[in-house]
Amino acid sequence: KNMWSLFRRKASNGFSAASTAEEVTEGIDASGLTAIVTGASSGIGSETARVLALRGAAVVLAIRNMSLGKQVEASILKENPSAQIETMELDLGSLASVKKFATEFKSSGRPLNILINNAGVMAPPFQLSEDQIELQFATNHLGHFLLTNLLLDTMKKTAQQAKREGRIVNVSSEAHRASYHEGIRFDRLNDPKGYQRWGAYGQSKLANILHSNELSARLKEEGADVTANSLHPGLVATNLFRHFGFFGGIASRFGGLVMMKNVQQGASTTCYVALHPEVKGISGEYFSDNNLAKTNSNAADKDLGRKLWDFSMESVK
Ligand code: NDP
Repeated sequence: KNMWSLFRRKASNGFSAASTAEEVTEGIDASGLTAIVTGASSGIGSETARVLALRGAAVVLAIRNMSLGKQVEASILKENPSAQIETMELDLGSLASVKKFATEFKSSGRPLNILINNAGVMAPPFQLSEDQIELQFATNHLGHFLLTNLLLDTMKKTAQQAKREGRIVNVSSEAHRASYHEGIRFDRLNDPKGYQRWGAYGQSKLANILHSNELSARLKEEGADVTANSLHPGLVATNLFRHFGFFGGIASRFGGLVMMKNVQQGASTTCYVALHPEVKGISGEYFSDNNLAKTNSNAADKDLGRKLWDFSMESVK
C-alpha cells in the first residue's frame, strides 16, 4: 500500500493509478503468446516479464547484462516453476548488438506476438553511444526503432498465422513534455554544447511516442494485424534514479512514501496495453494509469513523426 491507494480514481474499466499489473491482467490467458521485454533486468521491465509469464506467455528477457538476466530468470522461476522464460543478450546502445539479437531471435524460428520496448536510461551526463549517437536518444529511441523494424516481419507473420493481433508497446513518459523546445534536435543531436540531461531525456521519450504513432499509421495502411501504442508508467520507484546520487537513492528505496508507484503498480499500464482484450484494435494511442491519455502537441505532430522516421532510418543504416 502507498499513497496511490488513497487516490483510487477509477475509470470506467475499474482500473486506476493504484492498480497493479497482476490486477489489470487478472483472468487473462496469455498462453500461446510469445513476448520480448527489453530492459527486463530491473524495475518496470522485470515486473512486466514476471506478470506476462504468470499469465502464461513465453517471455524473452532482452538484457545487456546476462548475469543480471539469469538472476531475474531464477527469481521468476522460483515463484512460478512453469514460467516459460529465457534471457537473450541485447545492448540497445549498440546497433550491432540490436542486429545480432534480432538475427538470433529470428533464426530460432520463434513466433512473436508482443514486443515491449521498455529499456531506458534517464538524464546521465553527456555521453555518446558506440555508434557516436547521444546516449539517451541511442538507447531509448534508436535501438528500439531498429529492433522493432527488424522484428516486424516476424510479428506480422505470427499475427497472420495465429489470427491474433500483435502488439508493440513503447514505454515512454510524461517527461516527453520536457523535451527541447524544438522537439527533436535533428541538426545537433550529438553536440555536447547545449546538452541538457532532462531535455535529452524528454527528447528520447518524445521520440518513443512519435515512433509508435508513425509505426501505427504505417501498419494500418498496410492492413497488418499489429498495433503500436505508447504509455507513461507513472512515477515509479526504480533504479532509473541512479544518476541522482543521494536523492536518487532515497527515491528508489523510499519512493512509496512520496507520490511514487511501486513496481507492481508501475508495470500495470504496460501489461494492460500488452494483454487486455479492451485494448484490441486500438493503435497509435498513448496510455497512462491503465487508461487512454493525452500527449503534448509535439508528440501528436504527424509531420514530426514522419521526419523522425526518415531520420531514424538514415541513422540505423
Ligand atoms: P530501471 O533503471 O529500473 O530499468 C531500466 C532498464 O533498462 C534496466 O533493465 C536497464 O538495464 C535497461 N537498460 C538501460 N540501458 C540499456 C541498454 N543500453 N541496453 C539494454 N538495456 C538497457 O528503470 P525503470 O524500470 O523505471 O524504467 C523502465 C522504463 O520506464 C524506461 O523506459 C523509463 O524511461 C520509463 N519510465 C520510468 C519512470 C519511473 O518513474 N521509473 C517514469 C516514466 C517512464 P541494466 O540493469 O543493465 O542497467
